[in-house]
Amino acid sequence: MNIILLGPPGAGKGTQAKRIEEAKGLVQLSTGDMLRAAVAAGSEVGMKAKEVMAAGGLVSDELVIGIISDRIDEDDVQDGFILDGFPRTVAQAEALDVLLKEKSKNLDVVIEMQVEDDPLIKRITGRSTCGSCGEGYHDEFKKPAVEGKCDKCGANDFQRRADDNEETVRSRLVAYHEQTAPLVDYYGKTGKLKSIDGMVAIDDVTAAMLDILS
Ligand code: ADP
Ligand code: ADP
Ligand code: ZN
Repeated sequence: MNIILLGPPGAGKGTQAKRIEEAKGLVQLSTGDMLRAAVAAGSEVGMKAKEVMAAGGLVSDELVIGIISDRIDEDDVQDGFILDGFPRTVAQAEALDVLLKEKSKNLDVVIEMQVEDDPLIKRITGRSTCGSCGEGYHDEFKKPAVEGKCDKCGANDFQRRADDNEETVRSRLVAYHEQTAPLVDYYGKTGKLKSIDGMVAIDDVTAAMLDILS
């Protein structure tokens, strides 16, 4: 099964993708994670993406389409993947259609996470991630059971993204409304779109998603 999680920054795509990975045996493909790894490695892709990401804009379609095209050829995703943060423009969605066709793969469902803008600022500025295992946290909405200790792996290595500040989030939200929101219509026309309420508690969002996927 191949699915897309669609929603603005802070909607909960990464949080839910990790849960669906575990429940359904699918592989999360986050273009944001891939781009951050490229920036950290100082690769050519990373050098091209760095400044745009820091400003909260979108990196070029060509670059992310290339990354995804290569990634979905790899062995570990042949039983299914969850696209998290891709596609983000109509051009990316069109390129994905072409890629999937060429590779004889199907898109099963696109889950749109509906959330309001204002609470997203708080979600993003309070976000942290375990640098050791990748588990996501929030200062208020998802604290570790023991302060300073990752629930999953026990590490004390909570990291924050440089672009998770209020100013950049506002730019990212503008980019979402202008360039990504049109994908709701795009996938609506295919009959593959399912919309869920992303404002409820994390567990309830997971339940709604698993219901769609079962
Ligand atoms: P969030 O989950 O908070 O929306 P991501 O980790 O998905 O953030 O993305 C971080 C940044 O990486 C984006 O603001 C953008 O600059 C870049 N990026 C990620 N995916 C894409 C994409 N599909 N197209 C263009 N830029 C992207
Ligand atoms: P995205 O990948 O869409 O940018 P994340 O999954 O990283 O979003 O979630 C952003 C922040 O909001 C994280 O700190 C996460 O713990 C928190 N969060 C995610 N879903 C919810 C929810 N349903 N209610 C409250 N906080 C949430
Ligand atoms: Zn951890």
